[in-house]
Amino acid sequence: METDNINLFIENNWENIKENVRNEYDIADISFDTWIRPLKFKSVENDTASIIIPSDRAQAINYITKKYKTYFVVTITEMTDHNIDVNFILEDDANNEDVIIKEKIYNINSENANLISKYRFDTFVVGNNNKFAHSAALAVAESPGEAYNPLYLYGGSGLGKTHLMHSIGHFILDQDPNKKVLYVTSENFTNEVINAIRSGNSSKMNEIREKYRSVDVLLIDDVQYIIGKDATQQEFFNTFNELHSAGKQIIISSDKPPQDMETLEERFRTRFQWGLTADIQAPDYETRMAILKKYSENYGKEIDNAVFEYIAENITSNIRELEGAYNKLVAYSRLNKIDISMDIVEEALKDIINPNQIREITPENIINVVAEHFNLTSDDIRSKRKTADLVLPRQICMYLCKELTQEPLQEIAKALNKKDHTTIIYGINKISESVKVDKNLLNKIEVIKKKISPS
Ligand code: ADP
Ligand code: MG
Repeated sequence: METDNINLFIENNWENIKENVRNEYDIADISFDTWIRPLKFKSVENDTASIIIPSDRAQAINYITKKYKTYFVVTITEMTDHNIDVNFILEDDANNEDVIIKEKIYNINSENANLISKYRFDTFVVGNNNKFAHSAALAVAESPGEAYNPLYLYGGSGLGKTHLMHSIGHFILDQDPNKKVLYVTSENFTNEVINAIRSGNSSKMNEIREKYRSVDVLLIDDVQYIIGKDATQQEFFNTFNELHSAGKQIIISSDKPPQDMETLEERFRTRFQWGLTADIQAPDYETRMAILKKYSENYGKEIDNAVFEYIAENITSNIRELEGAYNKLVAYSRLNKIDISMDIVEEALKDIINPNQIREITPENIINVVAEHFNLTSDDIRSKRKTADLVLPRQICMYLCKELTQEPLQEIAKALNKKDHTTIIYGINKISESVKVDKNLLNKIEVIKKKISPS
């Protein structure tokens, strides 16, 4: 990337960069909101990125530099694939400098598409939660402007919308490097429009229009941020119409489907629904396991499955957090020079997975956890089938219900869909005897117990 492109890249990905710092270094919310969120990006010169500290934080410049500089250096270097140093400056100094506003020439090309290199289809794990969105994204990537236009992706935070959008962009450029692909966050789009309006310079606005209307593929992330902002919304609407009628591909992401965006004007709602709307859900257990295994591919050493199970059991709603937990574990193991294993997981993740969290233990959740552990469904466990692969998990359920709950045997029998409790007594005794001689089984039960009640 050339300096101009690095500048544009950082400008356009500034929010993502801060988010990555937050996740990679596991920064607490309060610290993030206090120190990092207010930071603004100024520019890159001579391979040094200047980051502006707002004047109300001026007294903290030394602290911020000492504590966060390396994080930004590493993150920006990683994301731009370029050795970039970082320099924190105060807002007032930044304003007093004669800022030379360079005429930016918006020649959109594969270098300044603002794509993060690791967000690709190859690194995206497909599961039940995202397979529809994934195949829609792939169809659009294969035939931009022809398959579904616009493609509207929605879902909660940290579920893979941004990753999927970047994957589309990379795929299109890999097929045809001359395609003009542009990724922008709604926040940056808004800032560009607002700055142009503020400057009172109509050529500024024309520049923006020209830039956005020259693209073949526009990816606009988190569109909920521009809804309700009048001027920006109008600008986006015009861009959308022009691109769409010229057969250019538009990909939009949002946290909600169009029909749930209360302040969305009707004209947008219909247009957003012209193409295809696809949602991404929270990942299920299998997908969480697959994602963790994918991350561990470049760890270099074998990691005990129980480690993945422990994380996948406890972090359930958000892939960003799953990634954070994995990174934290790797960092902990490096720092302490201990291989990743069940021995260190709890300690390494104690801030993320809260052991004091009191969970109500019921026969139902014991059955669920045991089923997941053996790759079965809870219906399998409750079924009448007596195959060997079901008998052991079923007996483990009986044993754990007895050990971990106060439920009377009749209730345990009911939960397991058994008519009377003699089978339950038999199962409990069977396991109690087996664990005395079978160390493997004992371990297995310990792991399951941890999953039921991490402590
Ligand atoms: P969103 O934009 O929906 O908030 P992101 O796309 O930023 O979520 O995803 C959060 C993190 O989780 C990213 O680091 C991303 O690479 C990772 N991630 C999300 N979905 C997947 C997936 N299916 N496979 C692998 N990594 C994923
Ligand atoms: Mg996102």
